[in-house]
Amino acid sequence: MTVETFPITRTDEEWQRLLTPEQYRVMRGHGTEAPGSCALLHEKRRGVFHCAGCDTPLFASNDKFESGTGWPSFNEPEPGSVETSVDRSHFMVRTEVHCAHCGSHLGHVFDDGPPPSGLRYCINGVALVFHPSE
Ligand SMILES: [Zn+2]
Repeated sequence: MTVETFPITRTDEEWQRLLTPEQYRVMRGHGTEAPGSCALLHEKRRGVFHCAGCDTPLFASNDKFESGTGWPSFNEPEPGSVETSVDRSHFMVRTEVHCAHCGSHLGHVFDDGPPPSGLRYCINGVALVFHPSE
């Protein structure tokens, strides 16, 4: 990974304290949760999904769609909330998605999503905290 500075930086020790072991594995170790394992997959209320690492609003509920993959999927992020990098792990070239504020790994983005963006942000539910608006 390239060394990049983010508005929010924490030491590895702080991350371990702040996050659950599963969140730490996914968000700081570029892991992937088991598909269908997160309750947020079935979250249908209106609201905003925030970063579990720094509470930045990342995805609005009206950009969420059912992709059938077992991971929460979104059409597009809140403007400026996420950044991407090229991920060449697992013998694939994928576009990795991370929080623009704290650098935590969120998931990947694919170009096979529904309109209007045509994008599918495939996000680990443990990396998100849902704030319902109603
Ligand atoms: Zn964050």
